[in-house]
Amino acid sequence: MVTSNPQEQRDRAWLELTRRDSQKSHGLDILVIGGGITGAGILMGAARHGLACALVEQRDFAWGTSSRSSKMVHGGLRYLLAGNLKLTRESIRERQRLIREAPGLVDPMGFLIAFYKGHFPGRWSFSILLTVYDVLARRWNHRYYPAKKYIWLAPHIALKHLKGGIKYGDAITDDARLVFRTIREARQDGAQALNYVAADRLIINGDRVCGATIRDVLSTRTAEVHAKIVVNATGAWADRLRKQVDGGQDIRPLRGSHLVFPFWRLPVAQAITMIHPADRRPVFVLPWEGATIVGNTDLDHTEDLDSEASITPQEVDYLLEVLRYQFPALGIGRGDILSTYAGVRPVIGTSALSPSKEKRDHSIWVERGLISVSGGKLTTFRLIALDVLKRAARFIPSLTVKDRNEPLFHYPNTQGHYLRQLDHALQRRLAGRYGPKTEEVVGCAKDWELMRVPGTDTIWAELRWAARTEAVVHLEDLLLRRTQLGILLQEGGMGFFDQIRAICQEELGWDNYRWHHEAEAYKSLWQRCHSVPEGTENR
Ligand SMILES: Cc1cc2nc3c(=O)[nH]c(=O)nc-3n(C[C@H](O)[C@H](O)[C@H](O)COP(=O)(O)OP(=O)(O)OC[C@H]3O[C@@H](n4cnc5c(N)ncnc54)[C@H](O)[C@@H]3O)c2cc1C
Repeated sequence: MVTSNPQEQRDRAWLELTRRDSQKSHGLDILVIGGGITGAGILMGAARHGLACALVEQRDFAWGTSSRSSKMVHGGLRYLLAGNLKLTRESIRERQRLIREAPGLVDPMGFLIAFYKGHFPGRWSFSILLTVYDVLARRWNHRYYPAKKYIWLAPHIALKHLKGGIKYGDAITDDARLVFRTIREARQDGAQALNYVAADRLIINGDRVCGATIRDVLSTRTAEVHAKIVVNATGAWADRLRKQVDGGQDIRPLRGSHLVFPFWRLPVAQAITMIHPADRRPVFVLPWEGATIVGNTDLDHTEDLDSEASITPQEVDYLLEVLRYQFPALGIGRGDILSTYAGVRPVIGTSALSPSKEKRDHSIWVERGLISVSGGKLTTFRLIALDVLKRAARFIPSLTVKDRNEPLFHYPNTQGHYLRQLDHALQRRLAGRYGPKTEEVVGCAKDWELMRVPGTDTIWAELRWAARTEAVVHLEDLLLRRTQLGILLQEGGMGFFDQIRAICQEELGWDNYRWHHEAEAYKSLWQRCHSVPEGTENR
């Protein structure tokens, strides 16, 4: 059943955004460019402050780094180690807020680290670090276990010279769904957001940026959108728009790649922090949505930012090396890998020799009225948004920005008739991801669609609801961002194409030709960016 033609929905949104501009005095207060977590957070903050605001994203929402992270909402022990107390404190407080306010989307996770005789870090130095971490969170959340007990928490880990290990607390999330929930809530508060719309040129009046020329990537129509403030939240791409206002070129794009394994092949009940034997960098193993994620790497990304990043054979080998070192009994090899993914971190370059030594805080530049923001983390998106809005307030006299400490998200209805039919874990997961729309998601299920897609925590109804209401344009939008089945299932979920096709054809009105075209494009993308690259050692 096609409730309303997706093209018609898009046309309406385009008209609404561009019609407002036909009288310049009725332009927007804020135009946000970039539909990752940073842009989404700013949009939500602006809408909550009663501003007329809109966001455009050149590809799909969360297409950039924000669906390719390590899925952690964390204080960041490495920032603490680097002496960045402020970033750690802010991150920890935001982590606690997200756990409290978005259960089911951001959930606590135990992290384990083992200590071996003669290796650094040792138990005591790590305990001191974690004590500071817990003091900042105002919550005691770590404990030491001697080897005998520790192996119950982390089965299969290397036993030789094992002294014991510590368990501490952080959290995990579904990064792309965090973006979607944020955008949806912004829309609920009156904001507009369009995917597959690129901002090509900034409109500069005198010495001030006052809008942008936007282009519908799907139809090539263009329009001018005027706004009191334009925010450049384009992450790793930020320097491109800054160039148009003669701004600096500060971004050092760093690639971070991950491997995904079937859970049964690398079973971990909680996350494990491993220290890589080659360079002593921390690498994480994380149980996530029915699979196990291992990552990440940290390398200069010199490829074209417009092509999707993918893991290299050397990165696969690097991650396999630490797994063999930490889990020798499991005999993990290339053939066990389910999928791979890579993201580009927008780090502000300070010419540090090693990428891992670069700062991870966000930076804001105001250049001819263009506010650019880049860097930072998923975890701190609310604070980054506040920071940007404070800068915007200098140009919008009616705007007063205060951290009102209001709840981040609208409260989900967990008492709905349909929702109550599900088990508690599923109720919680769905309420976290879909907030006030949860009952609608469950209610749209047909026949067997309340069942989980085998091997994952996703239910089929999520696909149907996303196709119906979440501006899905391509099959990859549905399988790599509305859900992340594309990295959780063998061969990107191609084995379930019959069921997925039925949903897409009913909800998106795709005929057979369109389906085949989408399926081929998805297969080729998956092969290029999510499979194991040729050249990896074949063990
Ligand atoms: C490997 C890796 C692991 C990470 N792990 C974590 C983690 O575990 N926890 C954590 O908190 N953080 C993590 N991070 C950091 C976090 O993912 C990023 O800081 C965050 O996602 C950046 O979001 P963003 O919105 O700034 O950028 P993006 O998500 O990249 O969004 C920018 C968007 O702008 C769009 N865009 C660009 N140019 C234009 C244009 N001209 N017009 C319209 N749109 C445009 C792009 O298409 C893109 O979608 C990780 C990062 C990486 C790379």
